[in-house]
Amino acid sequence: MRSIEVHEVHIPRRARLLAKTASRMALYAAERFFKRLIKRGVDPEEHVKTIRSASGHYALYIHMPFCHRPLCTFCCFVRYPFHEKRHREYIDALLQEISWLASTAEGAHIETLYIGGGTPSIDVYSLARVIDAVREAFGGKVQVSTEANPRDLTDEAVSVLRSAGVSRLSIGVQALEQKRLLELGRLNNTVEDVYRAVDLVKGKFETVNIDIIWGIRSDTPAVVAREAARALSLPVDQVTFYPLMPAPGLRELEKKRREGPWHPLEHRLYGVILGEALSRGFRPATPWCMDRGSRLIDEYVVDYDKFLALGISGIGRVGSYVYVNTFSLEKYSRLVRERGFPTVIGSMVSTNSDMLYYSFTAAFGLRWPPPRIDLYGLRGYLLASTGSAVLKLLGERRGSNKITQPGSLYLLHSIQRSIYMAVNMLREYGMQVQI
Ligand code: SF4
Repeated sequence: MRSIEVHEVHIPRRARLLAKTASRMALYAAERFFKRLIKRGVDPEEHVKTIRSASGHYALYIHMPFCHRPLCTFCCFVRYPFHEKRHREYIDALLQEISWLASTAEGAHIETLYIGGGTPSIDVYSLARVIDAVREAFGGKVQVSTEANPRDLTDEAVSVLRSAGVSRLSIGVQALEQKRLLELGRLNNTVEDVYRAVDLVKGKFETVNIDIIWGIRSDTPAVVAREAARALSLPVDQVTFYPLMPAPGLRELEKKRREGPWHPLEHRLYGVILGEALSRGFRPATPWCMDRGSRLIDEYVVDYDKFLALGISGIGRVGSYVYVNTFSLEKYSRLVRERGFPTVIGSMVSTNSDMLYYSFTAAFGLRWPPPRIDLYGLRGYLLASTGSAVLKLLGERRGSNKITQPGSLYLLHSIQRSIYMAVNMLREYGMQVQI
């Protein structure tokens, strides 16, 4: 058997220890935050008042929940198997919600539109209608990023997406080995679909990203190196390596907290991804997104600390106000019909939570100290100093505000994974209880 050269970056022991502790703390804090949030309802009048007060630059997230069958077993997003009538009703309600938002948040300037799912590309004509509606409702130049399933990317679909002004296409690849696709429970596209799709979209969008998942139980450094090398050799601008973040049930979450990092070789798998990316001229835009030079990335929260959200399960943030839309398809259409918006949770967050969120997303975008940390006064200063001391311990240069060291990247990866696991808990609960 031919051996392959593995480019692995060493993750220092102190980073591993810090990551283990920090990821547990982050999981605990984020889980507590979302458990409290779940208990809150929304005051419709307050919600409208807050959305009306939105002003300045915003990102807008739209959720398209329908997917090809079978649904992927690893997935934690709110998604439903495609059903023509339900899909049509959803798009109608979404168009209505877009009008409501545009007439309410009149002071918000939408710069970037992220369409996620689900599988937005499942019906590109509806997708184009939604993009047109946002442009018409909010005016101005809106940069559009959308997710797509490789099997949907035909000549016709690509031409519809281009005409709709999509500038960033993110293809849900997940694995480049059929065996890993099977193991992940990703059965709605094949590896052949991926190669065909990547070839087709080459040079047709400003940025093409592919998502890869790592951390399956059977993953070893050699397997992940092979997958990373394949992904990074494709003619794409970015490869985002998402760790597997299974939607944990509440009991499972308890178990995971005791177990700590859920893949025994997690640090080595991450080191391999980083090593393969760096050796091919990619640079981390976040700990997960390896980039050849573009800036628009999947995690729009990194570039925007204020974002509005439309559609089922959308989460928005206006100043210190966080809101969550319903997780139920039936409720979604009914609420939009009755009052224009489908929000079921809306709450102001404490200054501490706000500061931690703001600081961590800046760090995840590899910036430290966060640009506006002085807004939080003495506690902001203390947090910035503690963060700088930790980063220095991990080898970051003092005075540089760009995080680059493998140990720091690994630490940030671990914390973000914990936060997303807690968000998954919110989604799972929302789906189960149909809030
Ligand atoms: S991973 Fe993507 S395609 Fe699979 S069920 Fe989730 S949203 Fe749908």
